[in-house]
Amino acid sequence: MTDHPARRLLLVHAHPDDESINNGATMARYAAEGAQVTLVTCTLGEEGEIIPPALAHLAADRDDTLGPYRQGELAAAMKELGVTDHRLLGGPGRFRDSGMMGAEQNHRPAAFWDADVDDAAQYLVEVIRSVRPQVLVTYDPDGGYGHPDHIQAHRVAMRAAELAADPAYRTGAGAVHTVAKIYWNRVPRSVAEEGFARLRDTVPDAFPGIAAIDDVPGVVDDTRITAQIDGSAHAAAKRAAMRAHATQIAVDGPFFALSNDLGQPVFTTEYYELVHGASGAPQGVREDDLFAGVPGAEQ
Ligand SMILES: [Zn+2]
Repeated sequence: MTDHPARRLLLVHAHPDDESINNGATMARYAAEGAQVTLVTCTLGEEGEIIPPALAHLAADRDDTLGPYRQGELAAAMKELGVTDHRLLGGPGRFRDSGMMGAEQNHRPAAFWDADVDDAAQYLVEVIRSVRPQVLVTYDPDGGYGHPDHIQAHRVAMRAAELAADPAYRTGAGAVHTVAKIYWNRVPRSVAEEGFARLRDTVPDAFPGIAAIDDVPGVVDDTRITAQIDGSAHAAAKRAAMRAHATQIAVDGPFFALSNDLGQPVFTTEYYELVHGASGAPQGVREDDLFAGVPGAEQ
């Protein structure tokens, strides 16, 4: 596969904005280093709450045009991160935002939560077999914080990695490919605590309140973190990408808020837990490169 860059990273996310919040610094760093960074977003986030009052009419219960609008926000965010390969699972509108857990939107036509996992995974298998990423990043089984689309994105990503490597699966859908390493998005508890302490000390007037650590997806005990990607050189790009998702995110310096108006820290070092494949670092040491130990892809 000589026409591919040596390092290929695939990220699977539920909605536009999740990639910038969770992995913006990582994506910007690898894109700047010449790696192929591919983002697959599973839905257009049609059910999101809208922050700017002037755009309130886009909402699902009004014009229901938030999806296409967020597609534009996603494209602008990817420009900020230097990522040129971003795709929607199955094409735009194939899977729809399922809303929060228990909402009636969970079972609307095309709701991602209602999709058959193998059916949704077939689209991702095509991407995996064509892009041939060595590294896959997605959420943990709880989707980081229990949102149905995040849980489903996890299931689809893990299943697609399995199917892409199966020689018996859809032999016409590209050459078999095994993803060398799979990571789940994480935030170490100590880092979250420090971030919120900083936020409490600063109290930016932009936000009327402060979120709780439990509002941050993927927080776990520090011992579970296996990789830490220093993206501080790309902090401005991450913040700009988050700002591009203006219907969903308000950014104020090193902090941001979602539609609940509760301040959270922007993390520019991003953390991961390796769940498949071998670590490229000695036992007990965190990797500083997601490609560590991958033959032909190390720095
Ligand atoms: Zn999301």
